[in-house]
Amino acid sequence: MVEQALNAEMMNPLESVRWQIRRAADALGLDPAVYEILKSPLRFLEVSIPVTMDDGSVHVFTGYRSQHNDLLGPAKGGIRFHPDVNPDEVKALSAWMTIKCALLGLPFGGGKGGVIVDPRELSPRELEELSRGYVRAIARFIGADRDVPAPDVYTNPQVMAWMVDEFARIKQGNEFGVITGKPVAIGGSLGRTEATGRGVVICVKEAARRLGIDLQGARVAVQGAGNVGSHTATLIHREGARVIALSDSHGGVYRPEGLDPRQVLDHKARTGAVHGFPGAQAITNEELLELECDVLIPAALENQITAENAPRIRARLVVEAANGPTTPEADELLFDRGIRVVPDVLANAGGVTVSYFEWVQNMYGYYWSEAEVNERLGQMMGRAFSEVWDMHLKQHCSLRNGAYMVAVRRLAEAMRVRGWLGHPDAARR
Ligand code: GLU
Repeated sequence: MVEQALNAEMMNPLESVRWQIRRAADALGLDPAVYEILKSPLRFLEVSIPVTMDDGSVHVFTGYRSQHNDLLGPAKGGIRFHPDVNPDEVKALSAWMTIKCALLGLPFGGGKGGVIVDPRELSPRELEELSRGYVRAIARFIGADRDVPAPDVYTNPQVMAWMVDEFARIKQGNEFGVITGKPVAIGGSLGRTEATGRGVVICVKEAARRLGIDLQGARVAVQGAGNVGSHTATLIHREGARVIALSDSHGGVYRPEGLDPRQVLDHKARTGAVHGFPGAQAITNEELLELECDVLIPAALENQITAENAPRIRARLVVEAANGPTTPEADELLFDRGIRVVPDVLANAGGVTVSYFEWVQNMYGYYWSEAEVNERLGQMMGRAFSEVWDMHLKQHCSLRNGAYMVAVRRLAEAMRVRGWLGHPDAARR
């Protein structure tokens, strides 16, 4: 299967996640039905969303919601607003959520949504209309006990607030647990905004400790300055690491002595981009990935580390803050070169873990302090990291394969006891 992966580079994320699940299921010797059940979403919805634009014209946007799996609980996962959104990407992202939630031991399945749009080109009113229209289109499929959306690329707490408000209008009553990542003013959890970045930093620390990398002064390159990249960079800088490069979709900045991420982000807030930050060298996103550093953190989109550039990656450790940044072929090449990769399904699981805390708080109507949220996040991420680490040592495999084995084994056990894998005596009858 490795040769199969290396023969044709898998740039389709759905093929990647299928390959990853299959490899783990095969290594564990599971019933082939486990893979068949996980290879496609249980339910996939395509919707059209008409929006009256500011110039009076009507534009019809296309959106999707994929409910990959609800074995362990309601489907769970973000909503992405991006021009490149497509059905296979949404399906893949929802499958990664199934793995992520199972790995962290959350009582959730996997889901994901997306709308084909560049939200940076919309006015705030148009964005609100689109957000509300999307929820109207999927309202009958979501709910606190069914499918719980959250933010993803180019969506944020404000978008979640419009969505939860629209849902309340449809249902004629509040149901705050239907969406997570909300503003704190309407049932959001303290610590949710930074949670993904905080989880990434927990993984960097856990991996660095085991690999003998001293985080003090360690050179870290972060690709992406959205919610995840910006909090990751800020928090890791606070831990004493040296953030030597940071980028956004326009390009990056590099300073071997280290950057103060807050200053770079202030510059981006003022000018719209990180480039042009005084005292730093301009680099492209491709160059950032190939910098010599201790820790490389891709925190943008899929397919950044490929068979083409993997031989030139010069990091000791890669921690995947984005979903799917490394193709399976690149993953093999990094593994062969001894570069450890903390996989997305573990590294960026801090976001959905605090989403789970938010959902629990909404159910109880009882809210936790930020310290409590962060402490529980640390415990859950630390435990998941150890399980993955132990599995990869036991199986002599990559951390990614180890993570999939932990998650897929848990999912297979749920399938077995629920009777999804057939009757144990069936073969004899
Ligand atoms: N979009 C985030 C992810 O990919 C968070 C999902 C959530 O909180 O449900 O994990």
